[in-house]
Amino acid sequence: ANSMPRPARRRVITVANQKGGVGKTTSTVNLAAGLALHGVRTLVIDLDPQGNASTALDVDHRSGTPSVYELLLGETTLADAAQASTQSENLLCIPATIDLAGAEIELVSMAQREARLKEGLTREALEAIDVDYVFIDCPPSLGLLTVNALVAADEVLIPIQCEYYALEGLGQLLNNIELVQRHLNQTLTVSTILLTMYDGRTKLADQVTQEVRRHFGDVVLKTIIPRSVKVSEAPGYGQTVLGYDPGSRGAMSYVDAAREVAERGTNRELRP
Ligand code: ADP
Ligand code: MG
Repeated sequence: ANSMPRPARRRVITVANQKGGVGKTTSTVNLAAGLALHGVRTLVIDLDPQGNASTALDVDHRSGTPSVYELLLGETTLADAAQASTQSENLLCIPATIDLAGAEIELVSMAQREARLKEGLTREALEAIDVDYVFIDCPPSLGLLTVNALVAADEVLIPIQCEYYALEGLGQLLNNIELVQRHLNQTLTVSTILLTMYDGRTKLADQVTQEVRRHFGDVVLKTIIPRSVKVSEAPGYGQTVLGYDPGSRGAMSYVDAAREVAERGTNRELRP
């Protein structure tokens, strides 16, 4: 496989959208696999108590497994909690266990509650596991877990479903990002928007695509992820679509998207 360009600096990318079912987890694991399978060491942090990214990457996430929960509490390190996925030794995952379900509330009373994840992602900790990319898969809410992800990251990647109501709620997400930029993480940028679940048979999908491009310009990746059964089947086999059916349109489009992410600069700012 031809390799992907490595970034000049390590990139920490939070995948966020407070709507559920828009393709956050699917995009996280498949973009990460796209990079990892082309030689770029990549870490996925599963920050959703549902643990869907952990399932897709086939890592142990039974209660008690060192996970992102212990990382938030400062009770484990990246190196101790990171597991190699079965897909590629370049693809690591910090799993989410069911213990994370209580974290949203437990964090409220903790010191530095918005920066717990950032504290676990020190340069030394990241160097110890030697990754070029970190993707953080967020839960479908704008609570403290997502805030922790936004504080720990350099960039936000927003997946948008090519469907009706796709843009609903986006303003709220952008407002929250702006608040985090103002008070907690000045260098955070919305670097990437990824259109997903595109169904070429519908007129609506094209309308949404055009509207998102009109609003957000070239923050939007050229590659659009099609709606594809293979993409949705893969996690059931503990695989990304790149492992499950590498020749499928879904797999190839995620490789294209990963290449775009790898090739584009990091200092784009979103101007809606
Ligand atoms: P989120 O993490 O935002 O809640 P998911 O990534 O879990 O969203 O996706 C929601 C559902 O849609 C899942 O069942 C997933 O398998 C499916 N899905 C995601 N992307 C695609 C796609 N491109 N084609 C078909 N199904 C998809
Ligand atoms: Mg998810």
